[in-house]
Amino acid sequence: MRILVCGAGGQVGHELVDRAAAFGLDVLGPTRAQLDVSKPEQIAALMRQRPELIINAAAYTHVDNAETHAEQAYAVNLDGARNLAEAAAHAGIPLLHISTDYVFSGDASAPYRETDGTGPTGVYGASKLAGEEAIRACLESHLILRTSWVYGVHGHNFVKTMLRLGRQRDALGVVSDQFGCPTQAGRIASVLLTLASRYARDGRLDWGLYHYSGSPSCSWYDFAVEIFRQGEAMGLLARQPQVSPILTAQYPTPARRPAWSVLDCSRFETTFGLPPQPWQDDLSEVLAALGGQVSPQITPGQLSRA
Ligand code: NDP
Repeated sequence: MRILVCGAGGQVGHELVDRAAAFGLDVLGPTRAQLDVSKPEQIAALMRQRPELIINAAAYTHVDNAETHAEQAYAVNLDGARNLAEAAAHAGIPLLHISTDYVFSGDASAPYRETDGTGPTGVYGASKLAGEEAIRACLESHLILRTSWVYGVHGHNFVKTMLRLGRQRDALGVVSDQFGCPTQAGRIASVLLTLASRYARDGRLDWGLYHYSGSPSCSWYDFAVEIFRQGEAMGLLARQPQVSPILTAQYPTPARRPAWSVLDCSRFETTFGLPPQPWQDDLSEVLAALGGQVSPQITPGQLSRA
């Protein structure tokens, strides 16, 4: 089956293109320069290559910039999602779309379920929520996967920022009052490609809205401490910097972040039999891909539990 991956230059898009063949899928993977999802005529041109399923990993993900560039955020996150859903409906094919924990306000204290009310606090989350609604309105055969705190080998992310700061500084403060679930880009890609290959086999999927992230939840501070611990053990850092927990109020950003964005992934696990994976193990995999050395005596999994 041939699939179209939009946003192929991004963290998740890159992994989707790299891994598709291993799932027996033929992939069309245009980068933003080759396909701007806000332009229906560019989508129409690509649809002539007859993909049988679309995965949308394209998004405007600059959370802070979105506050002052709402038009650009909505052009990609709403119009782009709608354009792809309309093209999929026209061609009679499904769309797998990625959304975000930022559709929630972050005021909860229990993991968010798909049935919980949304309430984005910024333009990015609002534009992503609008994209979800647009897809639902025009395409039945859609699957929307909300995920959180994405990191990976490609692109910019928290893990790479921490490694850079860890090399530059002896000490740093990291926010400890925001909680979420780090999720590896390659893991999201594998999960989506598993679903695509099941659709190729069965001609159907349980469409709808799902949550999927790494496990368990942690704070940015906890995540940073583990990055430094593994980074040192794997030789990516000469030594761990001293990390201090700080409050969100001490690190103001243009867009407010949800204090709590933990996703309950049980619906996804029950429906598809794909459980959340320990983010510490997935982190080891990324650090190894970034050049970290795994000692033969210590597997990545043991590293994270050491
Ligand atoms: P990235 O920002 O790494 O990738 C997004 C890609 O989309 C980039 O290559 C970007 O290109 C491209 N893009 C932007 N505008 C357009 C456009 N008009 N047409 C086509 N492509 C475009 O994001 P991630 O891979 O991290 O995110 C994947 C998905 O996961 C997104 O839907 C995002 O909302 C969601 N998500 C991400 C989280 C995170 O922490 N990153 C958390 C939760 C959900 P360019 O770089 O040139 O702008």
